[in-house]
Amino acid sequence: MEEALRIAVLIKQVPATENVKIDPETGVMIREGLEAEVNPLDLYALEEAVRIKEKFPHTRATAVTMGPPAADKAARYAIAMGCDEGVLVTDRAFAGSDTLATATVLSHALYRLGAFDLILTGERATDGETGQVGPAVGSLLGVPVLTFVSRLEILPNGRILAERAVEGGHERLSAPIPSLAVVVKEINVPRLCTLGGKLKGKKAEIRTLSFADLGLPRERVGLAGSPTKVVKVCYPQVTRKGRKVSAAEDFDGALEALETFLANVGAGGNPALPGAEEGEA
Ligand SMILES: Cc1cc2nc3c(=O)[nH]c(=O)nc-3n(C[C@H](O)[C@H](O)[C@H](O)COP(=O)(O)OP(=O)(O)OC[C@H]3O[C@@H](n4cnc5c(N)ncnc54)[C@H](O)[C@@H]3O)c2cc1C
Repeated sequence: MEEALRIAVLIKQVPATENVKIDPETGVMIREGLEAEVNPLDLYALEEAVRIKEKFPHTRATAVTMGPPAADKAARYAIAMGCDEGVLVTDRAFAGSDTLATATVLSHALYRLGAFDLILTGERATDGETGQVGPAVGSLLGVPVLTFVSRLEILPNGRILAERAVEGGHERLSAPIPSLAVVVKEINVPRLCTLGGKLKGKKAEIRTLSFADLGLPRERVGLAGSPTKVVKVCYPQVTRKGRKVSAAEDFDGALEALETFLANVGAGGNPALPGAEEGEA
């Protein structure tokens, strides 16, 4: 492939915790006070872009993230990993966007940034977890969408060859350029950032795009552009009452408590285990 390729990688900044809390009143995630990181599943999309760049040196990889001003860190991380530039799409008007409004904003941002040959996204974000944004962006841009991509190749004729994981095997598909590919973690092993890369990311100028830059009607973004409403948030109730006995403080006591507990629930001895008949512990 001799011509210059342009790749966009969609990355989302997510809370660096699995313990995401939702505001019961608004149904919106509580992000305040949480450390943030690049969505771990987006690192595979970034790695794939950098690998294509290494194979086809004329390639330009642009990481695009929509989020609050602090999400510029995600764009800097993408540069530290090897992307050429980072774009932050940010505006108060985007607050409260559901997946449709998010995909609308991102697809317009990509359109404004110019013609991309390949758009890469992660499988899902570890906070929202819908997996809708990638395919929605592709469909709004009117480009073919390849999902669950576990291997990707740019063919000499400029087409894309993708392998996708399906039940019982793999499916091989070829698609034209431009296309959007949602990658899964089997595709590669994301690299760690080098010190030089981190410095490059830190110093990089991150281009920002605001609501005014996208030329979108206000009713298509934010809460106004979000048909999804969070009706109710429920947390699973833990009803089992447990009892903790610390073996660190009193090992024999803990062992005795466990034996008594197992005997009381009728699971005192397993005859299949050698010595269990004789009452060995
Ligand atoms: C009523 C409502 C209000 C909401 N309000 C807010 C809010 O105020 N602030 C907020 O942050 N979230 C808000 N959300 C959540 C927000 O809609 C989702 O986080 C967002 O649309 C992405 O969906 P997801 O997390 O399921 O991503 P997925 O669809 O699981 O993500 C798949 C892939 O798409 C790409 N992607 C996803 N999101 C982005 C992004 N932002 N930038 C770049 N690439 C991306 C990544 O490659 C990712 O791996 C709200 C949701 C609802 C329903």
